Amino acid sequence: MIELVVVSGKGGTGKTTVLASLAALAHGAVVADCDVDAADLHLLLKPEVLKDVPYQGSEKAEIEPSLCTGCGLCRSVCRFNAVERSGKVFRVDPLSCEGCGACAFVCPAGAIQLKRHLSGWIHVSRSRYGPFVYGELRPGEEASGKLVTQVKMQAREIGRRESADLLLVDGAPGIGCPVIASLSGAHAALVVTEPSRSALHDLERVVAVARQFRAQPFLAINKADLAPDLTRTIESHAHHEGIPLLARIPYDEGVVEAMVNGTPIVTYGDRPAVEALRLLWAHFSAWFPPKAAEEARDLPPKPVLEDG
Ligand code: SF4
Ligand code: SF4
Repeated sequence: MIELVVVSGKGGTGKTTVLASLAALAHGAVVADCDVDAADLHLLLKPEVLKDVPYQGSEKAEIEPSLCTGCGLCRSVCRFNAVERSGKVFRVDPLSCEGCGACAFVCPAGAIQLKRHLSGWIHVSRSRYGPFVYGELRPGEEASGKLVTQVKMQAREIGRRESADLLLVDGAPGIGCPVIASLSGAHAALVVTEPSRSALHDLERVVAVARQFRAQPFLAINKADLAPDLTRTIESHAHHEGIPLLARIPYDEGVVEAMVNGTPIVTYGDRPAVEALRLLWAHFSAWFPPKAAEEARDLPPKPVLEDG
């Protein structure tokens, strides 16, 4: 199974629009939304959730009242003001606790323990385009490579069971821990960029990360016609760096309309952006034809990081 991760150097470049369209064009690909901090692909794919898997990512301190002597040391060392006092009773506010463990370290009575805490869920679902797995964090929880890895693991498992040719992954923007976790083990990384002044720098950074994981980088330039000079500069840089350009997607008002209506733009019939996205899919399929996917299926899976 070929793993294609769609990434971008920064948010708001149209990454999710591209990915939803690829999901619609690919017919039966497994899709994973690893942009767990801002998971929004489900708004376009409208899946039916089949299973919610609890995700326990963080730890929180808990005070055992029967052991606590009320010395107050835990409260004095907590930099996050998470230990509350009411008379002689001390308790930890789980919303403020960062799980650093300082209080448990200093507690002379051994009354504090760090316990695993429900940080979110992994939703295993099915959309009209095929299996879809996405993560959801509870309010206040931080995105982590661990959750991304677990989302990918679930998606890979489904892909193996259903003998899928392609796993499409929506990666987080930037180059932080969640992106590293989503690129780990991938065969290809499609960087979606817009012709802006920071685009080259963003492209260089994310391509460097993709190459570290030996994922073949590709490029798609969204709203390419809005700044033709910058588009040409990005294209010539990509050509020089050996990054194949798969599509120049023109600005198209239908993209916003499709998002508002909760559907991938490619379901909208003939429009300039749809034509470009179909070409993108055709070019990618030429790079990784079904035969390559079959061969990849027989190979042992590429290793993934256990934690981003
Ligand atoms: S440090 Fe331990 S014993 Fe002292 S107040 Fe905190 S929980 Fe109680
Ligand atoms: S684990 Fe850290 S953040 Fe949480 S209550 Fe203890 S000292 Fe404060």
